[in-house]
Amino acid sequence: MAQNQDCLFCRIVRNEIDAKIVHEDEDLVAFRDISPQAPTHILIVPRQHIATLNDLTPDHQDLIGKMFLAAKDLAAQEGIEQSGYRCVFNCQRGAGQSVFHIHLHLLGGRALNWPPG
Ligand code: AMP
Repeated sequence: MAQNQDCLFCRIVRNEIDAKIVHEDEDLVAFRDISPQAPTHILIVPRQHIATLNDLTPDHQDLIGKMFLAAKDLAAQEGIEQSGYRCVFNCQRGAGQSVFHIHLHLLGGRALNWPPG
């Protein structure tokens, strides 16, 4: 599986850096964001290193679907499935991407404004 030696999220996936892990399976690791922007702020990360959404190919279709299914399950686990939550991928610096290993933000537990900033 593609991994990047220096990538922060690859290092979390390899347990080289501590994180508050809330879910793990053969394809994904989910952990709490170190700088939470809402009472629930979880990052859902593939074990495979994919730098940005621009690097996706049709081979990643199931993986991306799995990320959203994990988000739905985690939202229920966090008790925010009825109050509401947001799932966000930032792609490239102009959209706020700061870690270049794709991750799905799961945010909830407070009112979320629209449009986002
Ligand atoms: P983005 O800006 O969309 O690339 O999101 C990266 C997210 O990773 C930010 O919300 C950061 O707060 C979060 N983050 C950075 N370092 C860590 C870390 N060591 N553990 C958990 N979350 C992190």
